[in-house]
Amino acid sequence: MITEEKKEEKSLNFIEEIVEADLQAGKYTQIITRFPPEPNGYLHIGHASSICLNFGLTKKFPGYTNLRFDDTNPVTEDTEYVESIKNDIRWMGFEWENELYASDYFDTLYQYAIELINKGLAYVDDSTSEEIALLKGTPTEPGKDSIYRSRSVDENLALFEKMKNGDFPDGSRTLRAKIDMAHMNMLMRDPILYRIKHAHHHRTGNKWCIYPMYDFAHGQSDSIETVTHSICTLEFVPHRELYDWIIEKLGIYPSHQYEFARRNLNYTVTSKRKLLQLVQEKHVNGWDDPRMPTISGLRRRGYTPESIRDFCDRIGVARRENMIDVGLLEFCVREDLNKKALRRMVVLDPLKVIITNFPEGVTEMCHSENNPEDVATGNREVPFSREIYIEKEDFMETPSKKYFRLAPGKMVRLKSAYIIQCDNFLKDENGEITEVHCSYIENSKSGHDTTGINVKGTLHWVSVPHAQEVEVRLYDRLFSVEDPSSEEGDFKDYINPNSLEIITGYAEPALNEAKEGESFQFLRKGYFAKDPDSNTEKLVFNRTVTLRDNWAKAGN
Ligand code: ATP
Ligand code: MG
Repeated sequence: MITEEKKEEKSLNFIEEIVEADLQAGKYTQIITRFPPEPNGYLHIGHASSICLNFGLTKKFPGYTNLRFDDTNPVTEDTEYVESIKNDIRWMGFEWENELYASDYFDTLYQYAIELINKGLAYVDDSTSEEIALLKGTPTEPGKDSIYRSRSVDENLALFEKMKNGDFPDGSRTLRAKIDMAHMNMLMRDPILYRIKHAHHHRTGNKWCIYPMYDFAHGQSDSIETVTHSICTLEFVPHRELYDWIIEKLGIYPSHQYEFARRNLNYTVTSKRKLLQLVQEKHVNGWDDPRMPTISGLRRRGYTPESIRDFCDRIGVARRENMIDVGLLEFCVREDLNKKALRRMVVLDPLKVIITNFPEGVTEMCHSENNPEDVATGNREVPFSREIYIEKEDFMETPSKKYFRLAPGKMVRLKSAYIIQCDNFLKDENGEITEVHCSYIENSKSGHDTTGINVKGTLHWVSVPHAQEVEVRLYDRLFSVEDPSSEEGDFKDYINPNSLEIITGYAEPALNEAKEGESFQFLRKGYFAKDPDSNTEKLVFNRTVTLRDNWAKAGN
């Protein structure tokens, strides 16, 4: 309830302001938006912004959002991508009104092209793409007319039909709009509308060998669906003039294009083409590798839909491009998981502690709260015994003044169990500490402590005979520089070679009940999600994020 109210109080972003003004002016009674992915890869965190914006608008205002696959490029598209995109949008918590495909409009688009030819506004050009580029001019110099520009309507109609019928090889001809080769906007210099491509399409099969260009499909698809607000990213600003021109010349429904800044996250890349390279060249283990900025990678890493939506909400909608710190994304998932994740004790780097005054062969149950942020989750039992593991870093032979963990002669509390005091320790020939001997203080058990002893440090621990081995995957940033795409050379030269570390941890028995994908806070260690690689023999957990921002603390 409170969050709902808060959201209403929040000021509108500039696109919401436009929509609100349009509705108030009576321009529309409802709005229609669309999310238009090209099914040539998995969705990433940048797409999440576009999803939240498009679907968010029609949650806030009357209307609906379509999912439209922009599948006009036959060679890069695949049904695997279509399925993953649908799955990711639903997981994010959104539902589309209609599932649509630009390829369903191929017949209509073909008719639109004929209409433009009939109006003398399009022509077939026999030039190669190199020849077309040569006559294009520069931003400061006008282009030159192609010698094919003056073809008659009848000749254009006949040639276009032959193009469609497969009479010409790839790249030998195009259909171009007849606008103005001296136009200030280079995109208006007779842009290509159709090209020949003898390729199999994932939905239309071999029906077509000519395919519309983005500019001759996107706006028209918007128009066919009576999209009111067509939102795209800033690189399409110069395309808007062409978008409007085609709609006007065809006299079809006047959809309008609005642009916002692409969202880029640091220490990663958000381009499907580059992400595909990482997958194909096996720098990562697939699109859903937990190091990937894809929605499926983030999900496997342990991110929640709420945390991603919160992130998109916080970064908002901008008019200018900027780089967003991945630390903000991590902050959002910590906030969310702190409320939801059950607490478990897992030791990642074990040091054995023997409680010498605790009887051998005895197990005593301790009760520990599942989540102090949510009392409804109750308590769990944690077995305690004579031998336990603590983290290596929680013991120091010669501690500094501010070290409140275990050290010779010092006391600490074991979480939900006893206060222990360190009496002794063993070292191996390399000087490494191998075993610590402690005694527990009677009557000091958590919740029943009558000793009055005050200790500063509380450690997590796991009983050795009850410990469950867990494969723990620790992740670091995938790239070692903030913006790999802007560095010299290939972006892959900047891959962080240490982005994955696999260790064995020791968990309390309650972790065995974890469900796939479930997130936990491993006390003092961070948030971890159960990986689908887990099976009845092996538990695998991914570290989503540490508890605090170690990165910032290290002075980076
Ligand atoms: P990529 O470069 O990763 O292939 P794209 O823009 O080609 O991205 P599309 O599938 O065409 O990918 O994108 C679908 C929608 O998502 C488009 O409306 C696009 O503008 C938007 N989008 C893509 N990347 C981002 C991003 N980084 N930030 C915000 N919106 C994005
Ligand atoms: Mg694209």
